[in-house]
Amino acid sequence: MTEPEWQERLRASGHRLTKQRAMILEAVENLGHATPDQVHAEVRRTSPSVNLSTIYRSLEVLNELGLVRHAHLSDRAPTYHSATGEEHAHLICRDCGRQTSVSRKELAAALGGLVDGKGFQPDYGHLTIFGWCQTGCHEQVEQPSA
Ligand SMILES: [Zn+2]
Ligand SMILES: [Zn+2]
Ligand SMILES: [Zn+2]
Repeated sequence: MTEPEWQERLRASGHRLTKQRAMILEAVENLGHATPDQVHAEVRRTSPSVNLSTIYRSLEVLNELGLVRHAHLSDRAPTYHSATGEEHAHLICRDCGRQTSVSRKELAAALGGLVDGKGFQPDYGHLTIFGWCQTGCHEQVEQPSA
């Protein structure tokens, strides 16, 4: 998404594009996947005075506007990611914490029956499936690339 585009979206929704919100959006885009704490650490490198509650509120506003998405990858705060990347869900191993991204297409193939069977459209990007690696669980813990 180009800068004028999201500035326009913010304005249209009655939210002002503060310099802080722009920085927070940029931090999420740079980090890929980030909790509010991680976004805070990133933003503070250039703006030491920004506090964590501002980060939480701003992320919620950006989320409402569709400029970022979030998923729940742990019992703690949500993890935010850029809305510009491909929509995907996450598989999380309860033993080693490994995260695997699953594309919307793969999910639709696995869960598409819900649409016909239950008349229900899953919110794929918000979906996290907890479970266990079947192989090589403790050999590698990698961050997903998307
Ligand atoms: Zn949520
Ligand atoms: Zn594992
Ligand atoms: Zn992700």
